[in-house]
Order: sequence, then C-alpha cells, then structure tokens
Amino acid sequence: MAPLLLSMVGLLLLTASGAAARPVTVNSVKYVVTNEALPTLGGKRFESEVGTDFTVKVLRNATAFAWKVFRQSPNERKQDVDVINLFVRVVPGIAFTVGNNITIGDDYVEKVPSVRVSITETYFHEVAHVWQPFGEGQPIGLIEGIADYVVLKAGLGTWAKPGKGTRWDQGYDATALFLDYCASFRSTFVADLIRLMPVKYSDSYFEQLLGKTVDQLWADYKAKYGDGQ
Ligand SMILES: [Zn+2]
Repeated sequence: MAPLLLSMVGLLLLTASGAAARPVTVNSVKYVVTNEALPTLGGKRFESEVGTDFTVKVLRNATAFAWKVFRQSPNERKQDVDVINLFVRVVPGIAFTVGNNITIGDDYVEKVPSVRVSITETYFHEVAHVWQPFGEGQPIGLIEGIADYVVLKAGLGTWAKPGKGTRWDQGYDATALFLDYCASFRSTFVADLIRLMPVKYSDSYFEQLLGKTVDQLWADYKAKYGDGQ
C-alpha cells in the first residue's frame, strides 16, 4: 500500500512540474510564492539566498512527506486545497499558516543563520499545518506537536532528547517527541490519530489506539526518559 501511494505522489509531482499549463488533476497542488517584503533586508535576502524555485521545490517535498506521514490517500486529503500560497511579509515572528496561506516574517529571514537550512524546517512545519485536520477541541499544543512531528520524521532540525516538557500538550518539540514515543507502540499512531479527528478531537483517542489514557502514557514516558535536555 505504501509504495503504491508513494509512486502516485511521485507521478503527481512529476506531472505538476513537467507541464507548462496546470494539469487538470483533482489532487494536484499549485504553489504560488509572493515576496511582499522586497524593500526590507529580509525580503532582499529571500531573493538572493532562498528564492522561489527553492521554495517551491521544498514546499512540494513537504506536501508529499506530510501526506506520507499522515498516510492520507488522495481522497483523504483536504479536497479544497489546490493551491498553497507562500508570502514573505513584513510581520514579526517566524511564520504562521492560515488555511492554505503560509506567511514568513521578513525579520526572521533577515536574521536567521543558515537561512536555507532553517527555512526548510519552517516550510515542513507550516505545510503540515495546511494538511492536518483541526478537529474541534484539539489542543493548540497538539496541533503544533503534530506539525513538528512531521519535521522530526523528515530528519530536519536539531532535537532535544525525549522527555522534554512538563505537559504532553505543551506543543512543538516536546509534544512531537511524545508522539514519537506513542508511535513506538503503533507505528501508524499519528496517522491513525489524525484519521479520528476530521471533525472532533478527544483525548480518548489515545486510549482507543494505544490502550492507555494520554495521562498514563505521559507518566510512563516521563518515567522512562526523565526530563530530557
Ligand atoms: Zn505551527
């Protein structure tokens, strides 16, 4: 099943990049990069050191990878997303995503060392947000943890040791590492969790999938790893 899905994604991306006109395919995704921060140092650095071609390439890879981690077959993906827009804008902070619109902050682009390395990690995180479901009641920390889990599985970024954090839904790397621990009992855990929550989220999904409550899993995890680094 997995190799088939992968080859379909590969074919899809090949088609999308090889054709001049946008292919009429239900699952094709178009990428539009707009640098609205050109007068700033960050906007200029984006042009000289990152660029549209690199950005589109990484966004495509990130989409294919998120679909793989989430095990989303074509008809399980968000059907209303046929374009991902990426804007570089004069805004504070690193990046944020609303729907299928990703915004990258000019100040971040200006100041971050090794901008291509760092922005690749950021693109994977933000693209995960585009494709993940936002079941009602899902903690923000879990939303952020799932996006960072995609980054972790992609082998990107520098990671703390397992055990980091004081709450399972603390978010970002702390929650991503906990999800990875959950996946040690069920390799498809994150994909299965996501499949349960297109409409509504409940902590009981952890127990449904792993036979233990999320609080028990967190206690076991902390007992095993301590506080991480
Ligand atoms: Zn995020």
